[in-house]
Amino acid sequence: MAFPEPLERLINALEKFPGVGARSAERMALHVLRSSPDEVASLAMALRDARMETQRCENCLNITLRSPCSICSDESRKRQVVCVVEGPREVEKLESSGVHFGLYHVLLEGFAPREGATPDDFALRELRRRADSGEVEEIVLATAPDREGEGAALKVIEVLEGADVTITRLARGLPVGARLEYLHGDILADAYSGRRKLDD
Ligand SMILES: [Zn+2]
Repeated sequence: MAFPEPLERLINALEKFPGVGARSAERMALHVLRSSPDEVASLAMALRDARMETQRCENCLNITLRSPCSICSDESRKRQVVCVVEGPREVEKLESSGVHFGLYHVLLEGFAPREGATPDDFALRELRRRADSGEVEEIVLATAPDREGEGAALKVIEVLEGADVTITRLARGLPVGARLEYLHGDILADAYSGRRKLDD
């Protein structure tokens, strides 16, 4: 053991984060040692609060303090139109572009909602359940035009096969490889207004 046990334990815990290898975990742990006791306490608290005080909305699966989230509980939203996005940042972006008055479905890949269900399967199954509920008429695919987003879109199309909903997709013309969260609001608004039925 290169380090005293408590430090080894921290390094092991940090190594479990996505994209963090042994070297970065070690650097992060040594940074913790250089921090003041107050800074360490607030880091520990932030970790705990982020985990304990947030949850996924029971309807759209976005991350929220209270479920259902503020969008899903807003009576003025059009419940028949559900926009499928990859994460909370895309929800924010669409909200600020002011074009979508319906609800959302947030795929959030890599987020395990509960043990036993893989994240992708969980979000997709929930989408199918919503599609079959009779409340939804249109599902708008608003995943990014990059590899990850296209992959997500294909999975969504597959899971919705045979469901009694119209699937539409943001108009092409979004720059290839663009993440929705970085797009100018006007471009996104145009793409949304020009959305097309999938089989056209
Ligand atoms: Zn919600």
